[in-house]
Amino acid sequence: MNNQGTLLVVSGFSGAGKGTVIKELLKEHDNYSLSISATTRKPREGEQDGREYFFKTKEEFEDMISRGRFLEHAQYVNNYYGTPRDYVEEQIKANRNVILEIESVGALNVKKIFPEAVLVFITPPDADELEKRLRGRGTEDEETIIARLRKAAKESEGVEKYDYIVINDTVKECAVCIDDITHRKEDVLAECSADNADNIKVINQIRQDLKNINLRRVIYVTSIIFRINGSCKQQSRRRRTGSSTEPLLNCQGDSRESKADYRCKIS
Ligand code: 5GP
Repeated sequence: MNNQGTLLVVSGFSGAGKGTVIKELLKEHDNYSLSISATTRKPREGEQDGREYFFKTKEEFEDMISRGRFLEHAQYVNNYYGTPRDYVEEQIKANRNVILEIESVGALNVKKIFPEAVLVFITPPDADELEKRLRGRGTEDEETIIARLRKAAKESEGVEKYDYIVINDTVKECAVCIDDITHRKEDVLAECSADNADNIKVINQIRQDLKNINLRRVIYVTSIIFRINGSCKQQSRRRRTGSSTEPLLNCQGDSRESKADYRCKIS
């Protein structure tokens, strides 16, 4: 069977492990070419320009957009990401399987340009595992982790538009599964189809859990703001009524500290 020349678009939640799965696929098979994207995000520790990404400034990236150098591009958590057009077109002409590891807006745009592209969405088995993997990387600060979890909740809405959903329980199995999809193995195509009821169930559960995780965060942050505000109001009331000769309390930072300070000073 001629299995070459597939344009394979791989997406997945941030932290789904898609980078590791793709590395495994490239290690085990030599008929895949990985497209290297350009991005304005800063390199993470260990990343090299031209290997993981072509790292660009915002100005350089916008210049490439205006010169039509991208097959597609999108913004993801405050940064640009784009697929350089030339490489992909060359590899397709050379009849190789080309992998694009890109987020969902870009993936759906590629499908418009190349309807024969195969769209695969990789997901961890559940949302807790997703958060654990995202934190386990240790490469992002808390603000970015929260933004990526929020983005994951949004991305989970578009998963049905993909052709296949692959659950990343183990890296090896996941890579084999993607290779089987490229080779059009019928049993795997049926098992991984985005229409398969079991896959829809997993995605629906993750979608719900991500919403709950994000909601818990909003409640937590709001309660901190309320506690800090409450503590500050008490201080200013005491200052207005002249009932304290104590210096200003520190109302910034951790609210528990502010409360502890407050108790200490009025006792
Ligand atoms: P990261 O910052 O974690 O490397 O990537 C963030 C997201 O951007 C991931 O979902 C990744 O798949 C996506 N991404 C990487 N390169 C591209 C690209 O060229 N185009 C688009 N649309 N998304 C990309």
